[in-house]
Amino acid sequence: MNSAERNISKEDLWKGILKMSEELGFADCGCAAVVPLDGSREAKRYLEAEESGHFGKMEYLKRNVDKRMDPALLLEGAKSVIVLLAPFSSGGCSLSSDGLKISEYALGQDYHIAIKERLYKIVAFIEEATGERKSCRVFTDSAPVLERAWAVRAGVGFIGKNNFLISPKAGIKNFIGVILTRSELPYTDKTVPNGCGQCSRCLAACSRKALYEPFKVNASKCLSYKTIEEPLEGADKGRTKDFSEKWIFGCDDCMNACPWNRFNKEGWKEFSSKKALLKGLTREKWEKMTEGDFKEMFTGSPLERAGLDKIRQNISR
Ligand code: SF4
Ligand code: SF4
Repeated sequence: MNSAERNISKEDLWKGILKMSEELGFADCGCAAVVPLDGSREAKRYLEAEESGHFGKMEYLKRNVDKRMDPALLLEGAKSVIVLLAPFSSGGCSLSSDGLKISEYALGQDYHIAIKERLYKIVAFIEEATGERKSCRVFTDSAPVLERAWAVRAGVGFIGKNNFLISPKAGIKNFIGVILTRSELPYTDKTVPNGCGQCSRCLAACSRKALYEPFKVNASKCLSYKTIEEPLEGADKGRTKDFSEKWIFGCDDCMNACPWNRFNKEGWKEFSSKKALLKGLTREKWEKMTEGDFKEMFTGSPLERAGLDKIRQNISR
């Protein structure tokens, strides 16, 4: 049975999705028709970054290029991409008394879990309303989907010179959740014009010049990559000794410099549930921490991705 047989119009289906997204705490929601992205500005930037070797050792970013360009390869018959923004702002990164900083997005529960839980509720609504089972897939930074490209097409924001999605309604501190569905929806073709103008604060804020030109980041110089993704073995210790920053997991400098932060919405509580704990973790406490302590405190949090040894390496350099 399809939506027509269930007698729900695409307009009513969309109204229901918008209502649910609000009730679930998403800061904005938009939709776009599935089309191949080949040739789009975002696709070109992705391919340029790959060709320039700017993904560092993040091999997963180099795989499944065909799926990144065409989401219909992820869900046969997909017609729409629904994009939802999940705010994570909690008033800044965690900063311990001896200056160790942890990126604001990583101060609580793993965002994949918290966002997917809510996306699945919307999927349940869509499938119930249309009568079509297994007609959707959900993603949040978890599959080869060019999420920001879809966010732009769905009219929820523009991509700033620092490469983050910026929403005029909800600022810059948002995760992006995506639902791919076989249901048709009313598409508006609304796009948000780039709002950077002559500003270049994010470029000035990047002390390592990893953000070396508007929209261009060399991951292998970026603190966010170096403190999280760069493999522990073979990490270029010589090059990292010059770090004066105290970022020990991630880096928010180019994000925090952005004037669009004034539009941030209050983040979901689960994204900052460990902030007080993290603020209390000084260098000495990290040094004394056992693997068991780390597991107890950070299983199911973004910090698990780096692991205790990597965080210690970041502290000691
Ligand atoms: S995250 Fe930090 S190091 Fe990376 S581009 Fe932004 S300011 Fe530069
Ligand atoms: S800091 Fe300025 S240039 Fe950079 S993304 Fe924000 S508005 Fe754009």
